[in-house]
Amino acid sequence: MAVYGAVEGGGTKFNCLVGTGPDDIRAEIRIPTTKPAETMRLVVDFFRDYESASGEKIAAIGVACFGPVDLNPESSTYGCITTTPKPFWGGAPIVAPLKAAFDVPIPFEVDVNGAALGEARWGAAQGLRNFVYYTIGTGIGAGAMVNGKMLHGLMHAEMGHQMMPSLEGADYKGLCPYHTHCLEDMATGPAIEKRWGTSAENLPPDHPAWALEADYLSLAMHNTVCMLSPERIILGGGVMNQMHLFPLIREKTLQHLGGYIQKKEILEHIDTYIVPPGLGGRAGMMGALAMAIEAAAG
Ligand code: ADP
Ligand code: ZN
Repeated sequence: MAVYGAVEGGGTKFNCLVGTGPDDIRAEIRIPTTKPAETMRLVVDFFRDYESASGEKIAAIGVACFGPVDLNPESSTYGCITTTPKPFWGGAPIVAPLKAAFDVPIPFEVDVNGAALGEARWGAAQGLRNFVYYTIGTGIGAGAMVNGKMLHGLMHAEMGHQMMPSLEGADYKGLCPYHTHCLEDMATGPAIEKRWGTSAENLPPDHPAWALEADYLSLAMHNTVCMLSPERIILGGGVMNQMHLFPLIREKTLQHLGGYIQKKEILEHIDTYIVPPGLGGRAGMMGALAMAIEAAAG
């Protein structure tokens, strides 16, 4: 039986594994994100070492990487990071070092799309052809599956930068370097910390921070329902560890929709419409693995 490789490339660490599914992980490693050549050499070494120790050949390696990344296979910089403020990583090739070492398919996605694909195969979006996966963490990103395929388009959709009304006064400024009052400006973990002067983890469930956070996120849910018509919305990322946010967001989303959208999947089943990830923090890794399995199958 074939085995597959997965890489989840993040700003602080690259998680790599070999396996065939969530219940069959053969080897796993965390590599610090230092400089591209050094980090990618350790990634390649991990898979090489696995092959020589086990005698098995890895059939494909899926990569879900922090962005922005070039996802256009026709482009000369396909498989590279594009412009990032992260030192050393602007323009860094991610697919090329793997392709040079392994003559197998190396499917490539941005991290949040990878997480969405993991949820589609093994998590909270199984059997759905239209859904959206949001991550609310250091930043905010979202991946949309539309008619069974990840939405790419001109680049990849930047739902974290959808505009919000100014719930805290026109002059309030959060943390997006590009926009005032986009979702990322107002609702990331660091934005919560800036506003309340203590890290989001430390705020008790009855703190007013959470009602405001749910206000912003429920507006994003309203926009998402109206723009993409998903069959389900998954909310992951560090901030969503605050499980008490879910009922608040669900209730406020129904209020924003205002009875205009008359679908029982939303009105009667909001608890299964806006949900946490089925794979928790493993969604990205499992998505990279799912991508490898699908690529190897052709
Ligand atoms: P990243 O976005 O960097 O990949 P995370 O999704 O873990 O990583 O997001 C980190 C952010 O989430 C930080 O701003 C942190 O304060 C916040 N966070 C992490 N855990 C919690 C928690 N249990 N409650 C609230 N906020 C959290
Ligand atoms: Zn923004």
